[in-house]
Order: sequence, then C-alpha cells, then structure tokens
Amino acid sequence: MARVKDKIHICENCKKEITGEIIKKGRKEYCEDCMYEIDPDWTDWCKLFEYIKRLYNVENVSVQIITQLKKYNNENKMSYYGMFHTLRYVYEILEMELDTDKGVGIIPYFYTKAEQFMNKKFDIEDKAEEYNIEAVTHTVTTKRQDNYRNQKKNINLDKWKEQTE
Ligand SMILES: [Zn+2]
Repeated sequence: MARVKDKIHICENCKKEITGEIIKKGRKEYCEDCMYEIDPDWTDWCKLFEYIKRLYNVENVSVQIITQLKKYNNENKMSYYGMFHTLRYVYEILEMELDTDKGVGIIPYFYTKAEQFMNKKFDIEDKAEEYNIEAVTHTVTTKRQDNYRNQKKNINLDKWKEQTE
C-alpha cells in the first residue's frame, strides 16, 4: 500500500512552505512570522493552545482549560504570551509535576515569578555579553551576539503585560 505523503502547508501570506509552527486562522494557515505581523494576539493564543495540547498529550484543549485561560486574560489581565511562558517555566525550568485535575490553575501562582525569572535571565545574559566582548576573539563574539539576539527575539517581556485594554 502506498503511504500517504504528509500534506505540505503553504503560508497564506508569504506563499512559502511552512516549516515551523503552523498558525491556523479559520481555514487558512500561516507561518508564525507572518501571523505575528498580521495578528500578534491570535499568534500568542495559538502558541499557548498548541503548547497545552502537547503538555497534556491531548487532541483538544478541554473546556475547563479554555475557561481558565479566558478568565485569567479578562479578569487577571494576564497575556496569552505571558501564560505560555509561565507554563514553560513551571514544567520545563521548575520541572513540576503536571496535575491534570486542576487544568492550568497553576498559572496565577507562577505568572509573576516566571516574568521575574525571564528578567533575571536577560540581566545575566547582558552581563555575560559584556564580559565576552572583552574576553573572546572577534569571530566568536559575533557568533555569540547572533545567538543572543535570537534568544531575545523569542521572549519579549513587553508583551508579558496584557495589551488589549
Ligand atoms: Zn508566511
């Protein structure tokens, strides 16, 4: 039997094949970069959603979790972007045990701590960068700066605060 080939996903905006995360809006699919330009909030929501699916190993995010996320966003003024990084902080950095009964109820307890952690992380990286510039050769320095810039691009602390007010 012939094996069905994986479907190729083309970004609706740049018309290129999507190699990274696929962001869906309605029936259309976009690459992450394009979607960030078109609708940053939607992109953050999708990323959070996809992360939860992977975390809980489920096909769909439960109504309980969706309700929690919307409540934190509306009432507690937590951004989807911040919640995404909070979950990563809790399960990837602190390596806490997942309690599926409570949904994502852990987020409010760690939201600020996660933000402080990211702040501190950048602070240390800034200091390390200053040190490296003096200590290493030109070639290596350039390479490290590129690395550093990429990391910064991935985590934007300004976006942590809810912006939809
Ligand atoms: Zn694109």
